[in-house]
Amino acid sequence: MPGKHEAKRKYARQWNAKWELIYFFTEGPNNNALCLIYKETVSELKETKLERHFVSKHELYNTKYPLDSTTRKIKYDSLKSCLKKQKKLFQKMSSSVDCETRASNMVSWILAKNLKSFTDGEIIKECMIEASKFLFPNDKKIYDKFQSMHLSVRTVTRKIEKLVVNVYEQLSNNLSEAEFVSIALDESTDLVGKAQLCVYARFIITNCCLFEELLGIELLETTKTG
Ligand SMILES: [Zn+2]
Repeated sequence: MPGKHEAKRKYARQWNAKWELIYFFTEGPNNNALCLIYKETVSELKETKLERHFVSKHELYNTKYPLDSTTRKIKYDSLKSCLKKQKKLFQKMSSSVDCETRASNMVSWILAKNLKSFTDGEIIKECMIEASKFLFPNDKKIYDKFQSMHLSVRTVTRKIEKLVVNVYEQLSNNLSEAEFVSIALDESTDLVGKAQLCVYARFIITNCCLFEELLGIELLETTKTG
């Protein structure tokens, strides 16, 4: 009976809003389901699949946020709004289809990763423009592209600030999910020899993945040997 078979298949693939609070999933963009906890996708909209995923990976949630409790609803809403913010940021940063914007996003990211001054963006731009004159002497298009890259201090600062907010949100989310957290302290000196205290969090989240993230650096009034 093909008709019945068809109807059954269709029914099995419909999103059911009940699954949101039971399994911490949301409807994905490609007729799939997206786990809000670690943003994994389950390709089929089948309750058994979502249940298996939840039980094997996030069962602790049932203890921490009991079913039908207000805390569970609050947790679900906060994970969902975090996902929304991440999506928005990603769309904003990649929807700018022009390659110049993408290139300046990448340069800003590299500067931040290497703890370089934001003013270096303008120097990098100058280098690229000058190098392009030698590497592509007859190609004005390439010269123009480098010329139109936005790498002013203000632009680089704005881009890095957005990345910082996103990293902070991801970190605080991971810490609130962590089954075990320990704080590690380390001392070091900055560029001018001042003592500073580095505070790290080491934590374990589901499946025994161990993470270590820097939480902050504080200047010390004494020396680091004290
Ligand atoms: Zn998951």
